[in-house]
Amino acid sequence: MKRRDNGPHTGPDAPSGHEGLPAPRRAGPPELPSQQDLEREISDYLAKKYGGRVRVVSQMVLPEAPGVDQGGGGPAAAGERGGPIDFSLKPEELEAWLDRYVVGQREAKAVLATKICTHFRRVRLAQERGGATSPAGHIKNNIILIGPTGVGKTFLLKLIAAKIGVPFVKADATKFSETGYVGGDVEDLVRELVDAAGGDIERAQYGIVYIDEIDKIAAPYTSHGPDVSRSGVQRALLKLLEETQVDLRVPHDPVAQLEAIERYRRSGRRERQVVNTRDILFIVSGAFAGLSEIVKRRLSRSGIGFGAELRADDDQEWLRHVIPQDLVEYGFESEFVGRLPVVACLHPLDVDDLHAILQNPDGAVTATKRQDFRAYGIDLRFEDEALRLLAAEAHRQGTGARALVSVVERALLPFEKRLPSLGADFLVVTPELVRDPEAELERIAADPGAPDRRAAYEALVARQRSTLVERLRAGGEVPGWEDADLPLTETRLRLIARLAMDEDLPLEEAGRRIRRWIEQIRRYEAAFEHKCGIRITFDEAAADALLEAGGGREVPLYTQCERLCNILEYGLPLIHERCGRKAFRIPAEAVENPELYINRLIRECYPPDPEDTPR
Ligand code: ADP
Repeated sequence: MKRRDNGPHTGPDAPSGHEGLPAPRRAGPPELPSQQDLEREISDYLAKKYGGRVRVVSQMVLPEAPGVDQGGGGPAAAGERGGPIDFSLKPEELEAWLDRYVVGQREAKAVLATKICTHFRRVRLAQERGGATSPAGHIKNNIILIGPTGVGKTFLLKLIAAKIGVPFVKADATKFSETGYVGGDVEDLVRELVDAAGGDIERAQYGIVYIDEIDKIAAPYTSHGPDVSRSGVQRALLKLLEETQVDLRVPHDPVAQLEAIERYRRSGRRERQVVNTRDILFIVSGAFAGLSEIVKRRLSRSGIGFGAELRADDDQEWLRHVIPQDLVEYGFESEFVGRLPVVACLHPLDVDDLHAILQNPDGAVTATKRQDFRAYGIDLRFEDEALRLLAAEAHRQGTGARALVSVVERALLPFEKRLPSLGADFLVVTPELVRDPEAELERIAADPGAPDRRAAYEALVARQRSTLVERLRAGGEVPGWEDADLPLTETRLRLIARLAMDEDLPLEEAGRRIRRWIEQIRRYEAAFEHKCGIRITFDEAAADALLEAGGGREVPLYTQCERLCNILEYGLPLIHERCGRKAFRIPAEAVENPELYINRLIRECYPPDPEDTPR
């Protein structure tokens, strides 16, 4: 059954769920009973027939259908097509959000968060001014990222595009040619942006285009002169980087041409769909091998003191001092470099970084693997020392974080194959397992239900939960919780940790779930008032006791709320009739033992005349 629209509005914006409540409404013409009357009649009928063993569950208090939550969302949710573009994000907000997912890369996070927020703010400002631009022209915040492979360049940009809610495309510069006849046409990037925006041209015009391997189109000056085809691609990109109109129809695509002719024949109109690149942000990247040498040479030429402060063997140190002139020397046209005014460097990831990526509860590598095992009903847990060994192995491969996935995959594949047939319901990845998977698999196969192994697993689960609670407590917050204006109590922290670990939910999603449940508890309050005319407010401890009684699951929580409300429904009206009290603040004690709580209230309310005292 669907929730009725005329139920009480008790969303987060309804002031404590009371003042904003509509008066009980009659649904439809007067001769029809209201929802309350219907419920009462049906309850009376059921009570007669089944003696109170069957109850009516009010539609008003049923939970919202999953997925209606409009909250912030993790990386995937935030960037869903069709949501509003967030033009108002502030640099530090975006940076803090990136910190949740991206290990290290402090400088790149700061630069990207700042310049991308500024870009979108500027776009909005220009819109507010009716699109008027300065006669001096406008320089976009297009960005160059310098860094090796697998250190988070794409990851950062995807996260940012998702958070802001704009389409994102990535391509390698090597696939383009100057003319577009060989390889791809640079304008295809803009067309792909329209695809990524689900055909929404307006949205595509605020998209982010990321071009990797840009160093491969640098055309260093050789004895035969510069490589003309490479500088040709640079020139082709130049137009896009600034402002140009890209025709959605590919000029040399015969199918598109025929379609256009056909449309013209039918409609008699020549339609030209174009995308303007003025507000599209371009980010280019590359490893730029050899660039540090150019910087080093320039710095040593310009002043010995400055050069001597830098460690000669640390390329990253040198790269932080890149100036446009170095990029020109590297082989870029100066106009091209001029359109890319922002530079940020990313660092190679060391074993600690890779370890931190694996440890991050919001990270994808271990979570994906846990889901693979969960698909067979197996709870996969990693000991920290095992994560470290996996990180060290990935580091040896020298492809940054990209190696993590394959290393974890390779270590666990034999278990993924064998354990489902052995009927195992958990697997702990220990250092021994990483060092010698075959031997560990044999041990498990010999005795799949070994009690000592289960005990170790249970101890690890408990330890991991308390470590996570500890971490959340130390950090002072759960991602996304800050917008909720709700206390983050110990119980809530524990439940969030449990949901995050046991159901592989990102912390933000786990927090959102708990907030939704608290909202539902508030709905019960509103529904109670709606039904009985008595206002109840569960205090924070009572709300926590209800969450606890639900054991971190939705249905048991609602059952608890229902049960409690039913008991209060019989007791509180008695007190109201006797003492005229119309509002009750419900403590945790009422959740633990509602009958006792009601009895206490009744005792306090009724005069001490023994004949009057209810039993
Ligand atoms: P590249 O720098 O080559 O663009 P990616 O961003 O594609 O590398 O990294 C590949 C994957 O490795 C990402 O999807 C992400 O899961 C992980 N990863 C890379 N760098 C980091 C990082 N600094 N923090 C967290 N995860 C990372």
